[in-house]
Amino acid sequence: MSHPDYYKILGLPKTASGEEIKKAYRKLARKHHPDLNPGDAKAEAEFKKLAEANDVLSDSEKRKNYDAYGDPNGPGAQAPPGFHQGGGFSFEDVFAGFGGRPLRHGPERGEDLVHAVRLGFKEAFEGKRFSLRVNRSEPCLACRGTGEANRKPEMCRTCQGKGKVGGGSGFLSFGHACPDCGGRGSKAPACPDCGGAGRHARQETVTIAIPAGVEDGARLRVAGKGEAGRRGGGPGDLFLQISMEPDARFERKGPNLYVRLPISFSEAALGAKVDVPTPDGQQTIKVPPGTQTGARLRLKGQGMPIPRSSQRGDLIAEVALVTPVIQDERSKELLRELAEINDVEVRKQRSAT
Ligand SMILES: [Zn+2]
Ligand SMILES: [Zn+2]
Repeated sequence: MSHPDYYKILGLPKTASGEEIKKAYRKLARKHHPDLNPGDAKAEAEFKKLAEANDVLSDSEKRKNYDAYGDPNGPGAQAPPGFHQGGGFSFEDVFAGFGGRPLRHGPERGEDLVHAVRLGFKEAFEGKRFSLRVNRSEPCLACRGTGEANRKPEMCRTCQGKGKVGGGSGFLSFGHACPDCGGRGSKAPACPDCGGAGRHARQETVTIAIPAGVEDGARLRVAGKGEAGRRGGGPGDLFLQISMEPDARFERKGPNLYVRLPISFSEAALGAKVDVPTPDGQQTIKVPPGTQTGARLRLKGQGMPIPRSSQRGDLIAEVALVTPVIQDERSKELLRELAEINDVEVRKQRSAT
């Protein structure tokens, strides 16, 4: 899907700041607002384009994607983990100080939906594809999402057809635009199909692909699978809030995995080949002679996959020495003899200072 040049629509350079985008959008949105250009299809189309441009450029994540890939949703349907920054401002902002209350007749983006997804270690390691039943909504076909019946407008009862509520009368009137009819003084009756909501509840099965290596706390976005928009506004997004079940073997820090590796006194002293669990199964590693407790043996590329790359983190085995519990006289004898011929001052460093 190709996207228009949002910068051109707002008449801004690519380097425009958030504040400049906000300003440009406010100015142009007022000029082209359908309520100020009744019956002008061109103005309405322009207004929708402006709303879309603003929706993308005022959202730092969408803007980043748009700048990089030409698509606000990024290179794939699922954005990489990270937080969706709800940037920008609402229609309330645009029309603040412009007749007081917001005019509720522009396109409105649908709400985002959030689903919690809990993953076991194996699922996080391998990635997961599954179907998710989502309770969302879609625009009403009968009224094309406007919520209005295709009948002659009736006089608005809230403002008695004046288009304004409150304030004084006569030449200096401080009334606010009527919130019910948006200042038009009349409005179409509610669509009988959707009761004026402009959308219908619907259950949809969405195919989800969780990338391998996803982290605890990540938020994945499935673009366009939130609630339906209103009056031609785009749909919201579906967010998957990822949480991880703890694993008995591995402790995870980013893409690296830590595993405790108990070794015996003689294995530590003489060196040994021991088995260590990795996400791919048991693997034999070499413990060098003279290994101390707390030593870290690193297995490069044996950790978690790094999402959207072919690389993996490391597996780090942390050595924990298990001191022998000696009961028989023969072993005691041997150890005493060993101590005698290996008379090492183990606390030398401490006494030297
Ligand atoms: Zn309808
Ligand atoms: Zn009214």
